[in-house]
Amino acid sequence: MSYVLVINSGSSSVKFQIVDPNSDASDPPFVAGLVEQIGEPQGRITITHGEDRWVLQKSIPTHKEGLEEAFERLALRGVSPRELDVVAVGHRVVHGGMVFSQPEIIVDPVVDMIRELVPLAPLHNPANIDGIEVARELLPDIPHVAVFDTGFFHSLPPAAALYAINAEVASRNQIRRYGFHGTSHEFVSSQVPGLIGTDPDHTRQIVLHLGNGASCSAVANGHAIDTSMGLTPLAGLVMGTRSGDIDPGVIFHLARHGGMSIDEIDELLNKRSGVKGLAGVNDFRELRAMIENEDGDAWLAYNVYINRLRSFIGSYMVALGRVDAITFTAGVGENDKFVRADALDNMEAFGVKIDPERNSLPNDGPRIISADDSRVKVLVVPTNEELAIAQKAAALARRA
Ligand code: AMP
Repeated sequence: MSYVLVINSGSSSVKFQIVDPNSDASDPPFVAGLVEQIGEPQGRITITHGEDRWVLQKSIPTHKEGLEEAFERLALRGVSPRELDVVAVGHRVVHGGMVFSQPEIIVDPVVDMIRELVPLAPLHNPANIDGIEVARELLPDIPHVAVFDTGFFHSLPPAAALYAINAEVASRNQIRRYGFHGTSHEFVSSQVPGLIGTDPDHTRQIVLHLGNGASCSAVANGHAIDTSMGLTPLAGLVMGTRSGDIDPGVIFHLARHGGMSIDEIDELLNKRSGVKGLAGVNDFRELRAMIENEDGDAWLAYNVYINRLRSFIGSYMVALGRVDAITFTAGVGENDKFVRADALDNMEAFGVKIDPERNSLPNDGPRIISADDSRVKVLVVPTNEELAIAQKAAALARRA
């Protein structure tokens, strides 16, 4: 059996999975690990392998020490990436700018290019580079592949990608819509034609990736033609803790009259806004419990969330002209039947009709939840970004 080690490195954490690239999206990974609180007095490593789950509390000064420790623990059980047949290491890289449209085998100049893109993703790309450097040191003989969150949206048409700001300023600062969650939008949208029996080259669809972060995309014949996230993942839909679209004037107002620095506003809009900013919680299970207890703020937050979502769905219906499928994915989209029902409520005039019974079935793999007479098929398709990265990395490593 051959595997891919998938690494998603954050500023103080590294998530990793050892994945069989030929597994199903709903299969659990062979091994899943999380190294967290790196650089803090007490860190934690959690590893899951089959039924086994073990947790190690100790100080983890660096990403390298964290991953090394995790590999040693895996070696004790004979499932370290050094012992298994690992054909590639796939790295999630958040920002590929205009440079990277496809996954890339990682060689030094690729790392340099990812570093040059740091100003566009100051929180994410440095952490991704840390992960790449550490993993290349630990596993020097295996091909490493960078898979970019922005890749699928590289081909957005200019009318969707450009912001209407001074062209020279925009160009000098590389300001445009890049889009994120691309691996998920591509993975999910590529499954839809097979599920509804259409030709992939003639399928027009809307993908709603609703997790803690949330984004939607319009996909025509396999290519993204619009998406809700922008220069950064802050744009678009209302999210768990992010505001999504706001009038940019809010930022000037807060800076001039709200006594807030740019960093404080950044933190406000990314971490203390969205559903959490309005209702105090960002998890939709908690939000639902609050709504059931008639909490007014929770109800309002939910309605703001749904209102924004419906606006995007409507705008993408117009952009696509004809829609074959609308697909829900990610934590909220896969599990929350209320969000799905309310997002598409009262759209019969546009050919969209959910079947309430199908919508109420528990999350169980890819499925159609629209009524038989719905012209537009509505689906739930579980995403699996790690598997998608593993498949891309394995394919590229095979060709290299
Ligand atoms: P993700 O970012 O895709 O991992 O999604 C995480 C989010 O999914 C959580 O913050 C919850 O809001 C939501 N979620 C997970 N499970 C459920 C569930 N059973 N019902 C409603 N929302 C859920």
